[in-house]
Amino acid sequence: MAKQPMLKFISVDRDMPAKRAADERNKDFHEIYAAYAEAKAEEQASRCSQCGVPYCQSHCPLHNNIPDWLRLTATGRLEEAYEVSQATNTFPEICGRICPQDRLCEGNCVIEQSGHGTVTIGSVEKYITDTAWENGWVKPPAPTSEREESVAIIGAGPGGLAAADMLRRAGVQVTVYDRYDRAGGLLTYGIPGFKLEKDIVMRRNDQLEAGGVTFKMNCEIGKDISFDEIRKAHDAVIIATGVYKSRDLQGPGAGAAGIVKAIDYLTASNRLSFGDTVPEFDSGELNAEGKKVVVIGGGDTAMDCVRTAIRQGAESVKCLYRRDRANMPGSQRETQNAEEEGVVFEWLAAPKGFTGDPVNGVMVQRMRLGQPDASGRQSPEVIEGADYVEEADLVIKALGFEPEDLPALWNEPALSVTRWGTIKAAFTTGATDLDGVYAVGDIVRGASLVVWAIRDGRDCAEAILKKLNAAKAIAAE
Ligand SMILES: Cc1cc2nc3c(=O)[nH]c(=O)nc-3n(C[C@H](O)[C@H](O)[C@H](O)COP(=O)(O)OP(=O)(O)OC[C@H]3O[C@@H](n4cnc5c(N)ncnc54)[C@H](O)[C@@H]3O)c2cc1C
Ligand code: SF4
Repeated sequence: MAKQPMLKFISVDRDMPAKRAADERNKDFHEIYAAYAEAKAEEQASRCSQCGVPYCQSHCPLHNNIPDWLRLTATGRLEEAYEVSQATNTFPEICGRICPQDRLCEGNCVIEQSGHGTVTIGSVEKYITDTAWENGWVKPPAPTSEREESVAIIGAGPGGLAAADMLRRAGVQVTVYDRYDRAGGLLTYGIPGFKLEKDIVMRRNDQLEAGGVTFKMNCEIGKDISFDEIRKAHDAVIIATGVYKSRDLQGPGAGAAGIVKAIDYLTASNRLSFGDTVPEFDSGELNAEGKKVVVIGGGDTAMDCVRTAIRQGAESVKCLYRRDRANMPGSQRETQNAEEEGVVFEWLAAPKGFTGDPVNGVMVQRMRLGQPDASGRQSPEVIEGADYVEEADLVIKALGFEPEDLPALWNEPALSVTRWGTIKAAFTTGATDLDGVYAVGDIVRGASLVVWAIRDGRDCAEAILKKLNAAKAIAAE
C-alpha cells in the first residue's frame, strides 16, 4: 500500500522558517525569516489534514487551492504546486510574505483548532514561488494572439498590476500610468524591506514589462494628463490609485517641526534602500538616528514605522495606541517582532497635544476601554488626571489613510463616491457609474490588504475581458 504522505500533524510539529536573532536583524532592512530548505517545506506541507471542506481556502480572499498545493509540495511535485498556486494568485510569493495569515488562511486551519498548530501555509506558498523563480518557471505574459483593444490602468500597485497581468496574458494592449518613478505602489514605497525585499517586487515589474505591458511612470492623472484624455485614448480604464491622504492629529502643537507623516517617513526609508538621494533624510527631518521616536497608531503602518526607526538607530522607540493590545488592528505577529527588536508599546495611551517647536514631547492621556460602540468595539475613554508628557524629538503619525477627492482632482463630478470618499464600484466587477470605467483595491475598499487588491484586480480584468469579447461577438454578427 502507498505510504500516506499527508496528515502528519500529529507526529510533526509546526515549524516556521528560522527567524534571524533580533539583535542581528534590527540593524538592516533584509527580510527576517530565512527560506525553508526543501525537506522542511515538504515536511511542513505534509502536516495538512486535507479537509473535505477546507476553511483555509474559503478564508483566503483568492480562494487559493491550498490543500492541493500543500499535497503537491509534500510529494516533491513543486512545478505542479506552482502551477496550481499561480492559477489563482498573481503574486503568491508576495502574499506568502505579507498576508496577515493569522487572520486569514492559517487562522482558520482546522488542525490549529484542534490544538496542533496551524499548517504554515504562507511560508510554504512563499517557498513554492521562490523555487519557481529560481528554476525559471515564472514566465512573463506571452499571449497567443494580440488584440486591438487597449486598457488604461491608473496606479501600479498590486490591484492595478494584477489586472495588467491578466489582461495582457489575454492579448489586450495595457498601459499602466503611475505618479511614482517605480511600479509596485505600496509594495515598493510603503512596506519596508524587512517584510518584503524590493527585488521581489522589481522582478515582477520587469516581467510585466517584458510581457508587453507599457508603463508610463512619473505621470500623475489630473496633473500631467487629464482623466478625460485617458478615457478617450482607451477602451476601458481601471482606477487603482490606493488611498494616500493621511489622517491628521489635532491638539496644541500639532503643527510643530519634527511631527511627520508615516507615508513620508516610510517612502524616504524605502527610497534609500534603492540607493536614491533623499534630501529629507539627509537633513535629518525623516531620519530617526539618535532620536527619541514616538509613533502614534496601532495598525500595520505604525508597526512598520517603529521597526524602521529601530533600524535607523533611534535612541528609543515608543508606540502609543489608544486601545489595548487585544484590540489593535495591526498584526500580532508583527507586534511581537517589534517588541523583540526593542520597541516599547504604551497601550491605552492617546496624544492630547505636543510640547516644543521643534517638538520635544507628546502630552499623553491615559485611556480605559468603555462600552462597545455601534461596531461592537469598546470605545476608549479618558482617565482624568492621569496625563503625562512623553519625551520625543521625532513623532510619526500613523493614524490611517483616506482617499483623495478624485472627482474634484480629476474634474469628473460624475464619478460617484461613497460617503467615505472611496469610489462606488460593483464588488464582483469593479464597474463604476461611468461607462467603461472600473475601480479596484484600496480606492474602493479603503485601506485594506494586498491580497484583496489582487483579488479585485483579477475580478475586474475578467469582467473587462467578458465585455470586450461580447462587443467583439456583436461586431462580428
Ligand atoms: C505601511 C504599510 C504597510 C502595509 N503592510 C501590509 C501588509 O503587511 N500586508 C498587507 O496585505 N497589506 C499591507 N498594507 C496595505 C497594502 O499595501 C494595500 O492594501 C495595497 O497596496 C493596496 O493596493 P492598491 O493597488 O489598491 O494601491 P497602492 O498599492 O496604494 O498603489 C496605488 C498606486 O497608484 C498611484 N497613484 C495614486 N494616484 C495616482 C494618480 N492620480 N495618477 C497616477 N498614479 C496614481 C500611486 O503612486 C501608487 O503607485 C500596508 C499598507 C501600508 C501603508
Ligand atoms: S494569499 Fe494570503 S490568505 Fe491566501 S493562502 Fe496565501 S497567505 Fe493565505
